Amino acid sequence: MTRIADRDRNALDRRDDWRDSASCAGLDSRVFYAEGRGSTAQVQQAKRICSGCPVTKECADYAITNGEYYGVWGGMSQKELREKRRRFTSKSKTSMRAAA
Ligand code: SF4
Repeated sequence: MTRIADRDRNALDRRDDWRDSASCAGLDSRVFYAEGRGSTAQVQQAKRICSGCPVTKECADYAITNGEYYGVWGGMSQKELREKRRRFTSKSKTSMRAAA
């Protein structure tokens, strides 16, 4: 019983390992959640941080598969992420129909 719990926990830890390499590790996460006035400049600031990040793909994949709808993820604004999610969902449905 304990071995299974340890294995599951290790799998979860590995799944989030990418966060350790993130350029935003340790930064104030509010930078990535722009609101109101100045939000365009704030999004650009967040995207600049993301532009040097070695785990943008992992970050974007995480946001898409975990339903993160707010903030900058994987170097993408909310709008860009929404578009990517729409394409991903559309492609997934097509693959499922083809497999059925
Ligand atoms: S892509 Fe941006 S939000 Fe995602 S981990 Fe890297 S710096 Fe953070």
